[in-house]
Amino acid sequence: MAFYHDHPDVLVTQAAVLNSRPGRVLLAGFPFFPGGGGQLPDRGVLRWSSGEAEVTGFEQSGEGVWHLLATDREVVGTVELRVDPAFRALMRELHTATHILNAAVFLDFDRALVTGAQMSADGTARMDFDLPGTHSDRLRAVSPVLADVVRQDLPVITTYVGVAQAELEYGLIRNRSVAPPPTRDGRIRIVEIAGLDRQACGGTHLASTGSSPPIRVLRIANKGRHNRRVYIGLEGRMT
Ligand SMILES: [Zn+2]
Repeated sequence: MAFYHDHPDVLVTQAAVLNSRPGRVLLAGFPFFPGGGGQLPDRGVLRWSSGEAEVTGFEQSGEGVWHLLATDREVVGTVELRVDPAFRALMRELHTATHILNAAVFLDFDRALVTGAQMSADGTARMDFDLPGTHSDRLRAVSPVLADVVRQDLPVITTYVGVAQAELEYGLIRNRSVAPPPTRDGRIRIVEIAGLDRQACGGTHLASTGSSPPIRVLRIANKGRHNRRVYIGLEGRMT
């Protein structure tokens, strides 16, 4: 199971370098979220006995996740990994905000499904919903629901269910492109806003909705006949 799932608050770890090539290392473990499901990859640095380099990206391979580095020096031995705390915090907030928006739309619009989601480094995010014929004004009316969910300070809980069970519960896998792949033992990670919403997700989130900054609906656009794209922003975080 991913370290960033089990320990979203631990942002500094040490790991052995398993394999090294110019500008990249394969590590025995790492705290970084490598990106996926609309959430941007973590930023951070890697320190070794004689240097330090920015981690510029991640590459999935059969051997594991390669960490791409802003250096051509050879990195060996044991390294220290530091996740950029401000960026991780912003992604946790934005990701939780997208779940809150998703829940509000799912409940208000006859269990409408998501067709895409993308978080941005500027404190905003967008979500696409399959909502044919829905007027923007009606969608805008979810704003008070978002504020209410934040005010209620609902716990955000993670569980795992078997793939077959996940397929049976309507809306649990709300979008195949943002749902995480099953674990090695065939289970799907479920992120639940207690009493409100359950869905498959592989990202990082806040521990409860009350930690979220106020969520503002910025604008709504039509994307084709079926899709409505909702842009949200976090108050005090937008740049
Ligand atoms: Zn999520």
